[in-house]
Amino acid sequence: MVNDEAMINDESMSDVVDLLIVGGGINGAGIAADASGRGLSVLLCERGDLASATSSDSSKLIHGGLRYLEHWHFRLFHEALVEREVLLRKAPHLIQPQPFILPHRPHLRPRWLIRTGLFLYDHLAKRGQLPASKGLPLLANANNPLKNTLKYGFQYFDCKVDDARLVVANAQQARQQGATILTRTACQSAVRQDGLWHVELEDSCTGHCQQYRGKVLINATGPWAQSFIEGPLKQESPQHIRLVKGSHFIVKRMYPGQQAYLLQNDDDRVVFVVPFGADFTLVGTTDTEYSGDPAAVEMDHEEEAYLLQALNAYFTRQLEREDILWRYAGVRPLCDDDSAKLSDISRDYILELGLGDGGRAPLLSIFGGKITTYRKLAETALAQLKPFLPQMGDDWTAQVPLSGGDIGGYGDGAYEQWLRFQTHNYPWLPKTLLARLGRAYGAQLHEVLRGATAMVDMGLCFGADLYQREVEYLLAKEWARSGEDILWRRSKLGLYFTPAQVDRLEAFVGALNQSGAQD
Ligand SMILES: Cc1cc2nc3c(=O)[nH]c(=O)nc-3n(C[C@H](O)[C@H](O)[C@H](O)COP(=O)(O)OP(=O)(O)OC[C@H]3O[C@@H](n4cnc5c(N)ncnc54)[C@H](O)[C@@H]3O)c2cc1C
Repeated sequence: MVNDEAMINDESMSDVVDLLIVGGGINGAGIAADASGRGLSVLLCERGDLASATSSDSSKLIHGGLRYLEHWHFRLFHEALVEREVLLRKAPHLIQPQPFILPHRPHLRPRWLIRTGLFLYDHLAKRGQLPASKGLPLLANANNPLKNTLKYGFQYFDCKVDDARLVVANAQQARQQGATILTRTACQSAVRQDGLWHVELEDSCTGHCQQYRGKVLINATGPWAQSFIEGPLKQESPQHIRLVKGSHFIVKRMYPGQQAYLLQNDDDRVVFVVPFGADFTLVGTTDTEYSGDPAAVEMDHEEEAYLLQALNAYFTRQLEREDILWRYAGVRPLCDDDSAKLSDISRDYILELGLGDGGRAPLLSIFGGKITTYRKLAETALAQLKPFLPQMGDDWTAQVPLSGGDIGGYGDGAYEQWLRFQTHNYPWLPKTLLARLGRAYGAQLHEVLRGATAMVDMGLCFGADLYQREVEYLLAKEWARSGEDILWRRSKLGLYFTPAQVDRLEAFVGALNQSGAQD
């Protein structure tokens, strides 16, 4: 119970925000979007770019997670299954149904076990857009890239997501609802004083510091959740986290067709192989304990060899390290539950609420979590904060599209129909460019192209169909501040760019930054 004193309603404190959120990954941005839509005042600070840490280093899946079943993590499994359908409706441009094939290898898991898992996948949550699973013979033909020793498999559906853009879409929605989003702004310290949080934020580019006050502090710093409490907050962390590193690589498209593969390995782990954009295939992930700085994480030779070996055991086409075009790694913070095996530690999130004197100035810290469950995590976080901010509105995010997601309908073929319609709106735009812009921006496409009537209005081309107009939009409306933000998070055009093209883009962005083109 919270006493009356704990409810902070003093209207004279006009500079005091309801929520101060530290961390601009999916969880911070998701909470900012949800809270601002309930009428709360929100300030979010992110010390780098939005999604510059774990939230752009994921396997890019919105998935129920068959592996959670094996570990009896039913709560997370169920929530994740439900969220697949909710998120498909919220962001049909960023999230797509993804068929998976799980080749059967009888010595690893018996058929009945896989069938049982998939039965639960199909039935534990109401399915809308996602078809049911089925068994299927793996026939030897040109469309089957697997070795012909693999005769049988299972098909099931999950979704794939543009993780970094999902974060941006949440931040945009938050800003449209009045939130302040400060990127390149680090929280250096936070103290409780007179029932409020006083935080010091430092502009990571200029070193300039500014103080802010808030009623509630949210620690959404992902892998830094424990060190943020022990460092800037100078408190003892209620949870100890273990950092688990996962690495991925990208190769040229390995096979025709849109299907992804879930490969089982002898050590009990699984590897995802997923079509990535029009021209590439994403392969990952590994699972190794990590103790260094989360910002310095990168794929090592052992992980690379592990993934190559897993691929080459299943696919006819044999790959080697020279085929790898891009590597990335991230760390997930898991709450230490004394499990001996990393894969046994729950991927579920834990929210810890700490209070100051008199039950005031709450601190809500987020430990763990998945992209798939970010929306529910935000709802749960706000439910916990309701006693302190009783004026907040009700749950709303399940029903409302994200920024760009309002394409006038959802469900089978809705996105494709919307995109077809855009070819009439923008007949002068090359189809491949329209397809990329449609996926990236959804209904925000009209903002990007506002006033343009011919290719000449797109301005300079920096390479791979990236034009000046889009670059200017990203700086003005999406917090991009460098070529890297644009090439590796707002898009993945970095996969196509030459070093000379990167330099030219960086120079252009640098000049725009000087002239103050950002928000
Ligand atoms: C390899 C791997 C694969 C994964 N695959 C999937 C998947 O396919 N599907 C899925 O659902 N989930 C997946 N996950 C989990 C998911 O990626 C994470 O749960 C999620 O991205 C965590 O988001 P976050 O906002 O908590 O943390 P982050 O995205 O790490 O954000 C925290 C942010 O806080 C900022 N920050 C830290 N300290 C400060 C400070 N003092 N001041 C200001 N800012 C600060 C950081 O810069 C960072 O941007 C995967 C995770 C990993 C590691």
